[in-house]
Order: sequence, then C-alpha cells, then structure tokens
Amino acid sequence: MEILHKVPVGLGKRSYTINIGRGLLNHAGDLLPFDAKGRLMFVLADENVSEYANTVCASLKARGARACHVLTLPAGEKSKSMAELERVLAWMLDNGVDRQSVLIAIGGGVIGDLGGFAAAIVLRGIPFIQIPTTLLAQVDSSVGGKTGINMPQGKNMVGSFHQPVAVITDLEVLETLPRRELLAGYAEIVKYGLINDPEFFIWLEKDGGKVTALDTAAIARAVATSCRKKAEIVAADETEQGQRALLNLGHTFGHALEAAAGYDGRLLHGEAVAIGMALAFQLSSRLGHCSQDDADRVKKHLSQTGLPVSIGMIQPKLAANDSELLNYMLHDKKAAGGRAVFILARGIGKSYIDKNVDMKDVQQVVLHSMKGAA
Ligand code: NAD
Repeated sequence: MEILHKVPVGLGKRSYTINIGRGLLNHAGDLLPFDAKGRLMFVLADENVSEYANTVCASLKARGARACHVLTLPAGEKSKSMAELERVLAWMLDNGVDRQSVLIAIGGGVIGDLGGFAAAIVLRGIPFIQIPTTLLAQVDSSVGGKTGINMPQGKNMVGSFHQPVAVITDLEVLETLPRRELLAGYAEIVKYGLINDPEFFIWLEKDGGKVTALDTAAIARAVATSCRKKAEIVAADETEQGQRALLNLGHTFGHALEAAAGYDGRLLHGEAVAIGMALAFQLSSRLGHCSQDDADRVKKHLSQTGLPVSIGMIQPKLAANDSELLNYMLHDKKAAGGRAVFILARGIGKSYIDKNVDMKDVQQVVLHSMKGAA
C-alpha cells in the first residue's frame, strides 16, 4: 500500500480523512477510522467493479469483521432509483444490520449517492465509507456528503446530507475506467482551478496531459488538490446556504443539457459541465465581467483535452431548442424565486454567484454555442 496524500475534511465531530494512493483496496480494513472487529460489513458495488468488492471484503475479514455481505447493482444512472434504494434497504435489514454495521460503497457517483442515502436512513443512520472508482467520484461526488436518488420528477430530488466516516481513493482503479469517463471526471478537476485557484489551472494547462495519461504523481496531485478545494468549500458551507454553490460552476447550463439529452449515457455529466463552463465564461465575457481571452483559454484547454465545449458539438444528442434549454435552467433545483442562478467569473480562478442574469443574454450565448463546432 502506498498512501500519497491524506486530505482532511474538517466538519467538527463528523470530520474524516480522504486517503489517496495506490494499492489501497487490499488494505481497506486498515484504513477504517475504527476497529472492524465484530462488525457486520455491507459492501454495495457497481457490477463493473464487483471484483474490487471481493478484495475489500477479504481485507475487512482479515481485520476481524463478523461478516461481509456484497450486493452488486447494475451500472448506470437508472440504479439511483427508489426501487434500488428499497432493494438495498431490504438487503441490509434481511441480513441483520445494526447500528455498528458499516455500508461501503464501491463505484462511481451513482453507487456513492445511492449507498450514502441508504446508510443515512437505515436504522436512522449507520456509518458509511466511500471507495470511489471513477475520476468524477474521486474528485467530486465522494467528498462533501451529498447523497440521494433520482425521481421521475427530476434528478437528485430526494436525499440527505450524510458524511462518510472515511474515503478510500485508490488511483489504480482508474486504469480500468473507459477513457470517456476519465475525461468527464477531468472536467470537474478543471472546475476547481476555474473557481478559485488560477495557479492550479495554469498547471493543468501545462501538465493536464499527464493527469489524463494517469502518470502517478500528476493524477495524485490533481485528485488531492481537487479534494482539498472541495473540502475547504464544504467545511465553510456544508448545506449550501452560500459559497458551496460555487461548486456548481458550469452546472446551470450543464444540467439543462443533461436534461435535454435524457440521462441515458449519450451525454455524460462531466461532458455537460465542460460545455457549461465554456458557456459560463462566454456569458461572463459577454456581460463584461471577464476578458474574451480568459473565455478562450477555458475553451481551448477543455477542447485540447478532448472534451466538448459547444452545444453544436453535441446537438444531435439533444431534443431541445434554445427556449427549451432556457426553460430547464429556470426550473433547475437551484433556481431561486423563478430566476436561474449562474456561477460567473471575473477571470480564471475568480468565480462568483450571480442571481441577476438577464435570460436574453443567456439565450444569445446559447444560440451562438448551438452554431459552434468547437
Ligand atoms: P457512474 O457511477 O454511473 O459511473 C460511470 C460508469 O463507469 C459506470 O458505467 C460504471 O459502471 C463505470 N465504472 C466505475 N468505475 C469503474 C472502473 N474503475 N473501471 C471501469 N468502469 C468503471 O457515474 P459517475 O460519473 O461516477 O457519477 C455520476 C453520478 O454522480 C450522477 O448520478 C451525479 O448526480 C452524481 N454526483 C454526485 C455528486 C455529489 O456531491 N454527491 C457530485 C457530482 C455528481
């Protein structure tokens, strides 16, 4: 086992550590913040990473766990549903879950969000450990305690804040991740530089290729910096009363694009966020808040990495015109008082929350992006 970074998430009594390294799964039992002895372990895994569940169980049993139950769920967003939640709850209850039991979620954001929510509500809450296996989950969804499921009425509509007691981030698992998923996760890494860390963005412009090539030092630095950035923001505003909304840079546009594409894998969350960040900077430039040079730099870096940066590039995947896209934005979960909320920028690393954007400006940026090939 090689631990490369330990990132603390400071939330008082609910503080925890994100362990980032290689070969950690074999030693999961050593990375718990408490003794595994005598405890019942419930391991929830995505079908594409089920082999990792066996490795983790072996380590937990070696540390004295009473038993380790494994439930494998189908891959994909459809698993974040009430039906699967019920299945997970019944599985734990049928196997004698008690307050000392631990739920361990192994997979991407889907398994992390579903598992975290099940852990939050079974017996009114049991400890929960995240073992994120997508880049997106390692730099974003496993940090910060947002859990939940989708409803027919919309994505992430039911859930809770339930912090994990530990996060075990093994970089080796990224070697089996499809490249498109890897790049989608990279978009969220870029986001942290754009929010408030211009030096990190400059480093990504220089060494982003090493990150996506999974060079150990580069990917470890990118994941650790991202987790540190998210942890800082979450520690200051756990339940998103204010600054946590900065983490939604690119998401007002992105969520509208995802809704129009239909959550069936044609457009990945990180791809939608990449286009959304390019649009947020373009809108900022149009409104005179940042330079066109900055907007161009954002677009150039994302596009050189292989991510989409305009609506035109994904148009065949969308069943919506400009006014339908605007309508999705006005009905976003984060919209307040009938107004869409945008994260705009005064420059790279200088993002801020803007609740007063004129939708006519948004429409112009959307229409222009629809024509864009890059
Ligand atoms: P995902 O969980 O669907 O995983 C993507 C795909 O990668 C799946 O097909 C999965 O089977 C596969 N996979 C996972 N790990 C693998 C590995 N190591 N090797 C091979 N294949 C692997 O998607 P995601 O992008 O990780 O997460 C998206 C979800 O995260 C969305 O539901 C989104 O709402 C949620 N999310 C939550 C938060 C939060 O704060 N809780 C933040 C961002 C996103």
